[in-house]
Amino acid sequence: MTDYRDYLREELFPQMWCSGCSHGISLGSIARAMAALNLERHKTVVSTGIGCWGKADDYFRTHVFHGTHGRALSFATGIKVAKPELTVLALMGDGDGVTIGGNHFIHSARRNLDMTAIITNNFNYGMTGGQYSASSPEGSITTTSKYGTMEEGFDICSLAIASGATFVARVNPYHVTQMDKLIAEAIAHKGFSVVEILSNCPTYFARYNQKASAVEMMKYFKERSLSRKKYDALPEEEKENYFLTGKLHQVVKDDFHKKYKDLQKRARETAEEVS
Ligand code: SF4
Repeated sequence: MTDYRDYLREELFPQMWCSGCSHGISLGSIARAMAALNLERHKTVVSTGIGCWGKADDYFRTHVFHGTHGRALSFATGIKVAKPELTVLALMGDGDGVTIGGNHFIHSARRNLDMTAIITNNFNYGMTGGQYSASSPEGSITTTSKYGTMEEGFDICSLAIASGATFVARVNPYHVTQMDKLIAEAIAHKGFSVVEILSNCPTYFARYNQKASAVEMMKYFKERSLSRKKYDALPEEEKENYFLTGKLHQVVKDDFHKKYKDLQKRARETAEEVS
């Protein structure tokens, strides 16, 4: 197996994230997944948007593309369509991924292009000062909702499944081995795969809501994350207090490129018949 450090630009460490932020754990996990799959660095592209997690591309020793807010998937789509032989990852936060970039997310899922979206969900816009996002749970205290948000937050994994993603998983920063394994599975999956990483923002969301330190947040994620069997056994009214984690969905379907090749073949045959 390749050394995961080969995929990281360790000379740029320490990372820019706040102490206690879980983004460093996610970064290491993606690098370990790349190493486990023995990905060739010159055939791997990491696309990012804007936000704290959007800075992750700084630390990968692969090809990287740092784009605009909410557009990591659109750039990733262009890269993958032009060069299908590349392994393409789009890294987004919840703001980037399902708020400002929400439309790109659902259409990427239904298109089933063979790439991986990794969304670190810390339930708020960290980089711009802790405003609420489309994944902030109803009632969340943020810098733009001092009396609690009025809207329900997206369940990112349910949104991905409903939109057509063919591999969907949710992980947390405490169960790192599971995170490594599922990110590697998502990258290896043929089709559009999504991994939601429940993430800790101790500077804003955790401080305003759970009133917890980074260590307490790790305990919180550990205790509140349940496998499908345990989650389904909970009384309905209890479920909103827990996270369903693990691999939640995987189906085998033709990906975008397979359908595109089939379409080209049909068009060529029709053209030959007509001529
Ligand atoms: S603001 Fe929040 S998400 Fe951003 S680096 Fe700090 S702790 Fe992490």
